[in-house]
Amino acid sequence: MKHFRETLYDAICQEFRIDKLYYENRTEHQHLMIFHNARLGRVMTLDGVVQTTEADEFVYHEMLAHVPLFAHGQARHVLIIGGGDGGMLREVLRHPVEQVTQVEIDRAVIDMAREYLPNHSAGAFDDPRLNLVIDDGMNYVGTASEQFDVIIIDSTDPIGPGEVLFSEAFYARAKHCLAPGGVLVTQNGVPFMQPDELQHTAQRMRPHFADTGFFCAPVPTYYGGFMAFGWGSDNRELRQVALPVLQSRFDKARLKTRYYNPAIHQAAFALPQYMVDSLATTD
Ligand code: SAM
Repeated sequence: MKHFRETLYDAICQEFRIDKLYYENRTEHQHLMIFHNARLGRVMTLDGVVQTTEADEFVYHEMLAHVPLFAHGQARHVLIIGGGDGGMLREVLRHPVEQVTQVEIDRAVIDMAREYLPNHSAGAFDDPRLNLVIDDGMNYVGTASEQFDVIIIDSTDPIGPGEVLFSEAFYARAKHCLAPGGVLVTQNGVPFMQPDELQHTAQRMRPHFADTGFFCAPVPTYYGGFMAFGWGSDNRELRQVALPVLQSRFDKARLKTRYYNPAIHQAAFALPQYMVDSLATTD
């Protein structure tokens, strides 16, 4: 019986039974695997780290898409950096946006996900509102002339090609691509296991946005409790939109969700004390 053993941490690891291997290869940028596991459905890994599984992807994708989009309330232009599996694009396109630009460094991730993980994108890559760019997100935000209402960083961990997406230079450049009153959100790891990532992002985002913070959600296959999502905006009100306003936007959108709802949206900004304490050391 073959198993996939995650190599993210030194002292601890999780292991998944490979019930059927669909794809394994080195792309131009990273080592990509897609396999089936009886409990989790299809699982995608990059460089030995679990990226997404069919069973729990809804928590991650709904929270990183719907929290900024419902907080903003009238986003028309959205930028996704990374997100090659297509789950984020699928959720963003459920909103009445005019255009989504997605910048993914690795075309092979998109191609293989469309073939072996089709429920993630669910046809989203064929949507005429998509402007797909194959490029390094760092390069893209340094050269783009367009501005976006919402920017979503759906990156890998800060290892390999994703490392640059956690740098202060990246946040500075991305800020220039944010329309006035817009919001940028990031995948920020699991603070219980990766406390440095939370602290570094706080320090690196703060100089570039009037309001920064984090919200969180538990994604079962990102081992170690809550995952944190970074938040940066010059509009301080976006982090505190009133519940009736969120509810009315949500009702109007008529979305069927499995994790997100307006009460969870608000509650997600309440951080556990170990995160509050960890962030206090960065002030
Ligand atoms: N949900 C996942 C997680 O939390 O680990 C992330 C999913 S998605 C597969 C991450 C994507 O970011 C990958 O497809 C990877 O190729 C892409 N990526 C990594 N570094 C990048 C960069 N510098 N520019 C654009 N895309 C990048």
